[in-house]
Amino acid sequence: MIRIEFWGQLKELVKYDAKKIIKQSKQKIVFDYPITRRASIKDIIEALGVPHTEVGEIKNGQKKIDFKYIVSSKANISVFPHEIPLNPNNYLFEEPIEEYKFITDVNVGKLTKYIRLLGFDCAYHWTWDDDKIADIAYSEKRILLTKDVQLLKRKKVLWGKLVKSSNPIEQLQEIVTFFGLKIAKDTNKILSRCLICNEKLLEVSKQEVIHRLAPKTKKYFNKFSLCPKCNKIYWAGSHVDKMKNILNSLKIFIK
Ligand SMILES: [Zn+2]
Repeated sequence: MIRIEFWGQLKELVKYDAKKIIKQSKQKIVFDYPITRRASIKDIIEALGVPHTEVGEIKNGQKKIDFKYIVSSKANISVFPHEIPLNPNNYLFEEPIEEYKFITDVNVGKLTKYIRLLGFDCAYHWTWDDDKIADIAYSEKRILLTKDVQLLKRKKVLWGKLVKSSNPIEQLQEIVTFFGLKIAKDTNKILSRCLICNEKLLEVSKQEVIHRLAPKTKKYFNKFSLCPKCNKIYWAGSHVDKMKNILNSLKIFIK
């Protein structure tokens, strides 16, 4: 039997017999857990419902341990969530996060466009199944954003974030806060990426696209960019102002 406690938001993820809970407070949930086989702390934490991606620190007593730690009976384990914003070099990661590149699944499909709108690389396709998503996350070193707890438990998922809200703007807020994403106000990062296919946009002259523009666009706009993949033309129209307002309210810009 080990004594185990989960702190912060992690306690909401724990699936365990409520009758066996020893202590439950705003900060943590505490219970005893029988060890019936040789198991790493990672296996135990995930068996209790918490994906490895959500864990920021584990201790046995006062001693920091990692996921490979083999738990003996009488251990006194504390499991903590990530600090916010996330430390990209967290010691529990198999490798540090070098770039904030994402992958989303259908459960948070609408979030994809908002992330791309910020100029961040976010892979998504509605036909991808869980195997494919895990493979891409692993091979392209992407951070998985999903509402699917089981998908986050996969070994190939090196980093991820369980998204809570079902509203895409609130989801964006969660991601921005959790990863501490910041974009300078004076950069052109907004609208630097195709919202449909994730490709980096190419700047084009008005002359190159003028034959495809509606009369009003032709009259009021002079800067254009083009997606090299789907050929869609982008310009800073009213929807961009609307988006900038949303982003301002998310405090996403550096002052
Ligand atoms: Zn495109």
